[in-house]
Amino acid sequence: MSNTETKLFAVLGNPIAHSLSPLLHSFFMEQCHYNGVYLAFAPKKEELAQAIAGLKALGAKGINVTIPYKEAVIPYLADLTPQAKICQAVNTLILTEKGFIGDNTDGNGLIKALEKQHGWQPEGRKILLIGAGGAAKGVAAAIARRQVAEIVIVNRTKEKAESLAKLLAQHSECLIKVLDWDALQQETLYQNVDTFINTTPVGMSPHIEAMAPVRMECLCEDHMAVDLIYNPLETKFLRLAKAQGAKTASGLGMFVEQGALSFAAWTTITPETTDAYRLIAETLNNG
Ligand code: NAP
Repeated sequence: MSNTETKLFAVLGNPIAHSLSPLLHSFFMEQCHYNGVYLAFAPKKEELAQAIAGLKALGAKGINVTIPYKEAVIPYLADLTPQAKICQAVNTLILTEKGFIGDNTDGNGLIKALEKQHGWQPEGRKILLIGAGGAAKGVAAAIARRQVAEIVIVNRTKEKAESLAKLLAQHSECLIKVLDWDALQQETLYQNVDTFINTTPVGMSPHIEAMAPVRMECLCEDHMAVDLIYNPLETKFLRLAKAQGAKTASGLGMFVEQGALSFAAWTTITPETTDAYRLIAETLNNG
């Protein structure tokens, strides 16, 4: 039930119909007895500035931003957090006295999920990022701020991997390497890397039999295989990695934890996430 004290939150994207963020945040609000409402909007690109100004005028405490506005929204913000400055993409706007501050909780959400599910921490790891798009940037910015030993980036379009590496190098001391897409075929890569993160949409529903050209026979129990995709909950990449004995994690945990981090930034309440994993998994399984 809403009343005059009810706080407003929103997600902006286009299209937005398939977003699970309203479900996730409404669940957090109920769980935390927080008096808020979270709504989804799909402004056109030319209406984005007005949408943000309108939400600010209405006193919205927080906004999530999703595809295709994670970068386009930046000119309308008062400032960026250090995390968002590195990746130049935001998924969370936090209302402050200055206006909205842009943050990116995607990468820290992934790290939280891997810590929660596997006790995995980035420090000292050699991490391979497959892909160099928006999600890869968020993940790379977060892991580069922890003491990882090395980040290796491979992307179909090598120039994009190179520009991501350049961006990271300005903000991090860690070793960053860009390899050709074909390097995925080299056995030595699998001996030199311990965590594989697929940040491409390859394998996403409905193309569930597709997979990035990873040499699955080179994976073993020493490896962690991560897929940012959460639909399906187990991609072909994860299924085959698990069969090789590798530890695996889907994008479900990242989705829930990035939302929990946004919620905490807006409300100062850190929600417990275990039940939210279950809710989102059930929702995805029910189509
Ligand atoms: P994006 O910005 O469009 O980037 C896509 C990346 O994948 C690019 O590097 C692209 O390479 C590569 N790619 C696309 N199709 C490919 C193909 N057929 N073969 C090889 N590489 C291909 O997309 P994004 O926003 O980063 O999203 C990527 C995935 O992450 C999506 O599946 C999305 O659902 C998921 N995601 C999950 C979460 C979560 O919370 N779990 C959050 C954000 C995103 P090129 O540079 O060569 O085009």
